[in-house]
Amino acid sequence: MPSYVIAGASLAGAKAAETLRDEGFDGEIVLLGSEPERPYERPPLSKGYLLGSDSRDAVYVHPADWYPEHGVDLREGVTVTAIDPGAATVAISGPEGDGELSYDKLLLTTGASPRRLNFPGSDREEVLYLRTVGDSDRLRSAFQPGTRVVMAGAGWIGLETAAAARTAECAVTVLEPQPGALQDQLGPELGAVFADLHRAHGVEFRFGEIAVEFRPGMVITSGGAEIPADVLVVGIGAAPNDDLAARAGLETGNGVLTDEALRTSAPNIFAAGDVANSFHPLLGQRVRVEHWANALNGGPAAARSMLGQAVSYDPVPYFYSDQYDLGMECAGLPSPGRYDQVLYRGDPATLEFIAFWLSGGAVIAGMNVNVWDVNDDLQSLIRAARPIDPARLTNPDIPLTDL
Ligand SMILES: Cc1cc2nc3c(=O)[nH]c(=O)nc-3n(C[C@H](O)[C@H](O)[C@H](O)COP(=O)(O)OP(=O)(O)OC[C@H]3O[C@@H](n4cnc5c(N)ncnc54)[C@H](O)[C@@H]3O)c2cc1C
Repeated sequence: MPSYVIAGASLAGAKAAETLRDEGFDGEIVLLGSEPERPYERPPLSKGYLLGSDSRDAVYVHPADWYPEHGVDLREGVTVTAIDPGAATVAISGPEGDGELSYDKLLLTTGASPRRLNFPGSDREEVLYLRTVGDSDRLRSAFQPGTRVVMAGAGWIGLETAAAARTAECAVTVLEPQPGALQDQLGPELGAVFADLHRAHGVEFRFGEIAVEFRPGMVITSGGAEIPADVLVVGIGAAPNDDLAARAGLETGNGVLTDEALRTSAPNIFAAGDVANSFHPLLGQRVRVEHWANALNGGPAAARSMLGQAVSYDPVPYFYSDQYDLGMECAGLPSPGRYDQVLYRGDPATLEFIAFWLSGGAVIAGMNVNVWDVNDDLQSLIRAARPIDPARLTNPDIPLTDL
């Protein structure tokens, strides 16, 4: 009986296991995860779960009995410590000691880990990160009315956490080395919309500054400011957990390199989710996408590839966020350098609009803010990759489908 091993029991890994069974695979599936939890989704950890509106049960990918019912051998708290691609084995370490497993096919869904700060006081317990459900629990208990929160980083994690902290009536200061919020993710135009949203909710930004020291009750910044702080929350990005693959001799570079079928450079080893840096046929280059939808869809795509089906994984990157009463979905990759123009349908000041990022007159990314049921149309516009008349694009009376 063939044995398929999945290293990394999170969204991508659990969805891959589900797809293997849905597609009729009746061999052994072993799902190995370092965390002492069954697979769960991370977006609620900075939103509903952190705010206390989502229950713990709401974050799991499957109910606990789904795994035995589908013959998926889920092993919690078990880390894959090495891969031997020649022998087709993985070394594991867990509550029952060390061991070895043989695989016919191996999927790496080891995800990413938060980048860490290293300065005087950065190892204190008041310096917090956000990746796991335990991290979210720690933040939730720290976020009490009046808690002084300093946030390092004005990216998605930083801003969603700032929103949760303000909702819990904390005082919030965000430090960001760049001149604005979400610069790498959205560029300055839309970054400013999000910074204004947070200012309107009482968040103070200090752009061009980073934290250089934490003392009890205080964060010292690179500008020499002493900011009162009960906690420092660090949200400065994540790095792919690709060390395991690199040590095994697989090609890596900002993640595990794969082709469009999510095959790595080693035979019978695949990668998906945050850890995979995959060739994207639509974009014509490799991309590593750290978004929920990429784990949701990439795990199943890798599973189909493991089963020998022809796979060309080319979704338009998709991301969503909720902050205060702003909900948005974003399609495409609107990072600086990829676009030369930003246009709007609706007024960004009303927080109900669609933004389009264009390059050479064609839409390369689009974001719907508090406007719903249009993201598929935005993705179609991006896929079409054709110049569009700006007057029609910005005219709310013309359905996006007519473009
Ligand atoms: C707080 C937070 C909020 C987010 N919000 C959004 C959002 O609103 N929208 C959005 O699109 N995306 C969001 N994301 C991103 C999204 O959650 C990730 O893209 C997604 O979790 C990636 O899933 P994954 O399965 O690839 O990896 P991960 O979720 O990183 O899981 C990988 C798992 O593998 C385990 N592992 C690592 N190494 C090993 C090993 N050697 N052996 C065994 N197990 C191992 C890890 O412990 C982990 O459990 C958010 C992320 C976070 C942290």
